[in-house]
Amino acid sequence: MAKRDYYEILGVSKSANETEIKKAYRQMAIKYHPDKNPDNKEAEEKFKEAAEAYEILSDGDKRARYDRFGHQGNSASGGGYGGGGMNMEDIFSQFGDVFGDGGGGGFESFFGGQSRGGRRGVRGSNIRLKVKMTLQEISSGAEKKLKYNRMVMADGINFNTCGTCNGNGSVRRVTNTFLGQMATTSVCPTCNGTGKTMGKRPSGVNADGLVSHEEIVLVNIPAGVADGMNLSMQGKGNVGPMGGPSGDLIILIEEIEDAVLKREGNNMVYDLYLNFADAALGTNVEVPTVDGKVKVKVDAGTQAGKILRLRGKGLPDINSNYRGDQLIHINVWTPQKLNAEEKAILEKLQQSENFKPNPGKADKSFFDRMREYFN
Ligand SMILES: [Zn+2]
Repeated sequence: MAKRDYYEILGVSKSANETEIKKAYRQMAIKYHPDKNPDNKEAEEKFKEAAEAYEILSDGDKRARYDRFGHQGNSASGGGYGGGGMNMEDIFSQFGDVFGDGGGGGFESFFGGQSRGGRRGVRGSNIRLKVKMTLQEISSGAEKKLKYNRMVMADGINFNTCGTCNGNGSVRRVTNTFLGQMATTSVCPTCNGTGKTMGKRPSGVNADGLVSHEEIVLVNIPAGVADGMNLSMQGKGNVGPMGGPSGDLIILIEEIEDAVLKREGNNMVYDLYLNFADAALGTNVEVPTVDGKVKVKVDAGTQAGKILRLRGKGLPDINSNYRGDQLIHINVWTPQKLNAEEKAILEKLQQSENFKPNPGKADKSFFDRMREYFN
């Protein structure tokens, strides 16, 4: 089944702002919440679908990538969207931002008794790193050594259970809301949801019990990545406050533009310039590809605008065994200045019957050819 458009799911326009998206999601979540639609499989699916759409559209980076690449946009990350949706725990933990008082609380009935923080701990933040890749590296895949700083648990700290919340990380209270009287949970003000307090804090350790640490990771960037794609390494981000679960390391791919080869998806395009005599008489040339130079024969009588195809000399597809082609776009170079001798020869040829342009059906225009190759 084809995946529905995220904007369509939430019923908002492509230009909707953050507030409109949040509002639309809130309405969906209330309408399709499992507590209000017990044993209704369709409502549950709608509920999950809306949560996934909100997860993407509420995040600037993910939304930009979705706008650009659609549902395939994050296929490289493995764990992101496109992979198969969110579980209920993810969805409920997201509610803190949508319904909460800003601190991660929310309607308890909606949480089904779960809350952020508490015994699970507060998750650490993600770290984003940019990695530059040449076309050659993209063609073969590359191992990159990344050095960065992350927050990790300091040695020699003892933690105590928070007395305010008894280690739950959250405190309950009953309030009146537009849906009637409800018990709400909010983040414990003493421990900020971690359920722990610190005994003695050694110098250099922050209030969350963490210190900065230089991390070196080796990451295998798969062949076929594209500019703007993300890869994530689970658990390689900052450790959570008081030793909570770690966030992720998000690696953003930056493609270094090549001086002569242009990328069109998995295909490469190269502009070859021939002088008029070579185009008319035929020649052999060497052209660069992502995998080195390749010898190419140019037939006698080659027209400007012709496209030669080097099958399989493009970039590999990240999701399959397919490899794109290199397209060589033939240009014929017209000399800018002629000496007397050249001028005399050309003037003689100018009158030749053979030199009269006579394009036939087989001489397609450049646009027709490009359309053929890219569709
Ligand atoms: Zn507490």
